[in-house]
Amino acid sequence: MKIQDEKKKMVHINKRVPMRVLGAFLCVLMLALTVMTALPYHTVFADKISEGDIDELQQMLDALEKEKEDQQNQLEQMEADEARLQASLASYGSLAQLYYEQIEEVAEKKAECEEQLKNYEEQIAGLKEDQKELYDNFKLTLRVLRESRDVSALEMIFNADSLMELLSAFERTKDLSKYKKQLLSKIEESFSHIKEEKAAMEAELAKQTELGLRLDSMRADVEEQIAETEQYLTEITQQIIATENKLSELTDTTEEYEQELTDLIRRYEEQLEKERKARQTLLWPLDTKNKRLTSPYGYRYHPVTGKYKFHTGIDLAGPTSGSIKRNNIYASMDGVVITCVNAPNSKKGYGSYIVISHGYSERYGGNISTLYAHCYSVNVKKGQEVKQGDLIGTVGTSGSSTGYHLHYEVRKNGLTTDPMSYEYITALGGTPINPKKFVTGAYY
Ligand SMILES: [Zn+2]
Repeated sequence: MKIQDEKKKMVHINKRVPMRVLGAFLCVLMLALTVMTALPYHTVFADKISEGDIDELQQMLDALEKEKEDQQNQLEQMEADEARLQASLASYGSLAQLYYEQIEEVAEKKAECEEQLKNYEEQIAGLKEDQKELYDNFKLTLRVLRESRDVSALEMIFNADSLMELLSAFERTKDLSKYKKQLLSKIEESFSHIKEEKAAMEAELAKQTELGLRLDSMRADVEEQIAETEQYLTEITQQIIATENKLSELTDTTEEYEQELTDLIRRYEEQLEKERKARQTLLWPLDTKNKRLTSPYGYRYHPVTGKYKFHTGIDLAGPTSGSIKRNNIYASMDGVVITCVNAPNSKKGYGSYIVISHGYSERYGGNISTLYAHCYSVNVKKGQEVKQGDLIGTVGTSGSSTGYHLHYEVRKNGLTTDPMSYEYITALGGTPINPKKFVTGAYY
């Protein structure tokens, strides 16, 4: 199989290892190869998927689709041939049927002719008998007459009392011979007539016999055609079955590849998304207009308790004048809300606050989370997925706070870091912020 070869080739490419470790890993590799060739296509790819991998799979799928289409066309052609052969077979069948009927008809006619000929022969035999009998009788009469000439005929003549009697005697013998002659002639006439009819009948029989022979030959031809057509049909039916099986296999394989392509694209998109997230730059949590950095990261005297204590984030004050006090707080990166405390009336600690986990960041080389404290309101829930720049709450003064401000923390692998050590993009897509340049208390 071509596909299997492709798979194996890919396994070899992906599994190429230096010669010196080959020995050590030979057994493991053999096992891996055995497992991988048995697994679906996508599993043999390296961890990182490239567009080339998708293209390659797509091309294989295209080739399969093309092959499927070719087979489908062939199948349609064969089915058309099959239909044509079946139509031919049907017409040959009708023709054969017609010949059988005609042959039967000819046989009947021949039988009739033969019957009639037999009849004529009987008639001829009868006539021959009649002829012979009459002839014999005629001869006898003549002989009698001749013999009797001396006696009765002559007697009759000589004893005739009158001329009339004499003439009558003569006439009698004449009539008799005339009558018998006439009879003989009639027999001969019938005889000749029957012979003519018999000859005609014999001609008819010969004609029917010839017709019968011709029909037999035509029937034999058509039977040969039927046998040949049936042979073709058997062959084409077998080819159709084979092609249908092949098509069914191709359909299964295509479906398998389509599924694998879908999976591969999904995984590739996930990978791209993960890569995008891993490359994401922190977004400044507030709008950058008329804001002040009021307290940096590190040790300080706490503004409420007055104690010297480590400040785990930075304090960003919103504008304190006018009615605009509660400014929007934005999620610094894509992530999941892992903590969300809604305590707007609390006077302790962070008050209302949110913690978002952003997962592993390639850019910052660790797992990053951000914390937003002293909120007036929170717009998210624990477990909610957020995108960078999503409005997650508003600036307030809940918890241990002396005024409207955002306490913002950036944690890496669970430990607080100085948020001012990072660069930030801004929510409105303005100039990136570099808080390293900030002077505490200055507007930015
Ligand atoms: Zn603070």
